[in-house]
Order: sequence, then structure tokens, then C-alpha cells
Amino acid sequence: QAKAQPGRKFKAYRPELREELQAKQLMIADLRAALERNEFELHFQPFVDLRRQAASGFEALVRWRHPTRGLVGPATFIPLMEEMGLIVPLGRFVLIEACRHAAGWPGNLTLSVNLSPVQVKSQDLVTVVQGALRSSGLAAERLQLEVTESLFLDDAEGVLGTLQRLRELGLVISMDDFGTGYSSLGYLSRFPFDKIKIDQSFVRDMNRDENIAIVRAVMGLGAAMRMSVIAEGVETVDQLMRLEQEGCSEVQGYLFSKPRPASDLPKMLMEIREGFRTGRFRRPAET
Ligand code: C2E
Ligand code: MG
Ligand code: MG
Ligand code: MG
Repeated sequence: QAKAQPGRKFKAYRPELREELQAKQLMIADLRAALERNEFELHFQPFVDLRRQAASGFEALVRWRHPTRGLVGPATFIPLMEEMGLIVPLGRFVLIEACRHAAGWPGNLTLSVNLSPVQVKSQDLVTVVQGALRSSGLAAERLQLEVTESLFLDDAEGVLGTLQRLRELGLVISMDDFGTGYSSLGYLSRFPFDKIKIDQSFVRDMNRDENIAIVRAVMGLGAAMRMSVIAEGVETVDQLMRLEQEGCSEVQGYLFSKPRPASDLPKMLMEIREGFRTGRFRRPAET
């Protein structure tokens, strides 16, 4: 087969690839410098409790305030930082900074922080979490850590041990992007997560029967295993209504707010309160 496509062999010598490699090297150097220069900052996106009709907490989402390129999203730099091990110092910064902010919020609001698999597998995660709680004074019960299914791809035993130790500190462990990874059901039974986040891909098109079926199945799983369920990526009132119909009572998405800087927190709380009061999150009554 290879003979039939002689050009293939020389793919590695394409000049574009050389450029890509150089661009990657530059980006790595840039990211190291960015860590030293403190160019990373956190934005926060609310979780909304539909029963109480109020924000229940915020998820911290990291951004890179690049000197010339402006605000850069995590999708462009997290994979590279994981590859280079830079995610460990970045993750430490995120935990400390997020807890520091959250300690100043009203006491009924929780904080959720994303963890990279690389971070969970690093030696000192539990110590870092304890340190962030101690230095900020945030109660462990108000901290939630989000992990993804890819975490279990290798060294599942070690990972389960770390999650167990984190849980013993009193904090909440939630499974992010649920339904997009591998062997999730097996791990759910071995490690009872406190919470599952239904991935936004299932929420996006709730007009499709199969997506409604998936949401319904996850709700059932949550009830059976005593895990709470939150749906992410809610953008429309229509999606919200369908989720409510399925019994989902906690949601997150652009309908309520995009992730915004910490200074916008009071504004986000106010907008959500107003949104419920004025019926912005309700379908207009058919009369
Ligand atoms: P995630 O944890 O699943 O976060 C949800 C992502 O979806 C966020 O993108 C958020 O801005 C976006 N989103 C929220 N609501 C909506 C919506 O209604 N519609 C749409 N289209 N998107 C919505 P973001 O901030 O770009 O983060 C992307 C991913 O990067 C996160 O996915 C998370 O896996 C990772 N990430 C972000 N911050 C951190 C961090 O501090 N540490 C680690 N390890 N990963 C992080
Ligand atoms: Mg998340
Ligand atoms: Mg997610
Ligand atoms: Mg995601």
C-alpha cells in the first residue's frame, strides 16, 4: 500500500511542518515566560439553581492575557501546557487564586475548579489543595473539583486513591463533560462522584430524541447513585425547559452568563436575579 503513494514517505520534510514545529517551540517559550510574568487570569461563570432561582456558585476558567494577542482561551494553550508539564504550576496558581477570590464571596456560593489529568497524577495535588484552602480560609465544603473521564486512561488505581483523599478533605468531586470519554460507567460505580456535568454536546441539540434519551439516562443514573446532575452549555430558554422537564435542577451556560472577570461577580448575581424576576428564562406564555 505504501508503495502506491510514494509521496507519503516524505511528508515529514514538508517545510510547513518545520514551521509548525518552530511555532510550537516559540509558543512553549512564550508560555513559560507568561507563567513567570503572571499573565494568566481567571474568569468566572455561574451555576444556577433552578429551584432557588439563584446562582449557586461559579466555575473558574483560566485565560491568558497575552501582551499583543489579547485574551487567549484555554483550548489553545492547556494541551501544550499538559504536554510540557507546565500545567502543574499553572494549576497551582489557578487553585490558589480561585480560592482567594471565593473566600470573599457570600457564603452560600461554591467555587468549582477544573483539574487536568496531569495535575491529578502529580505527586503534590492534595498538598496544593490543602494549601489553597488554608491560605484563603475557604471552607473545604465550598470547593468543588472537576475532573474528566480521560483521567482514568492509565493508573486508575492511583487516581482513585487521590480522589478519595481529596474527598476526605470535605470537598466535592464532579465529573466534567460526562458522556464524551471512556468507560465512564465502570468508574462511576467504583468511585461515587458527588456530581456529574452533562456535556454541552448533549444539551446543544435537545430536539434530537437520542440526546433527550441521553439526558434522561444520566438523570436516572444520578438519582440511582445519589449524584447530583448539572447540565452545561445551556444557551436557550428552549433547552432550559427541556432540561427542567427531565428533572434537571442545576444548569450553566451562556443563557445566564458567559465567563466574566471576578469584578463582574456582583453584576452577574444581579442579572440572574433580574432574569428570573422578569421572566427572561421563561418561554413567553401562549395567549
Ligand atoms: P469545561 O470545564 O467543560 O468548561 C466549559 C467551557 O464551555 C468553557 O470554555 C465555557 O466558557 C464554555 N461554555 C460555557 N457555557 C457555554 C455555552 O452556553 N455555550 C458554549 N458554546 N460554550 C459554553 P473555556 O473557558 O474556553 O474552557 C474550555 C476548557 O478548558 C474547559 O472546559 C476546561 O476543560 C479547560 N479549562 C479551563 N480552565 C481550566 C483550568 O483552570 N485548568 C484546567 N486544567 N483546565 C481548564
Ligand atoms: Mg469544567
Ligand atoms: Mg465541561
Ligand atoms: Mg468541556
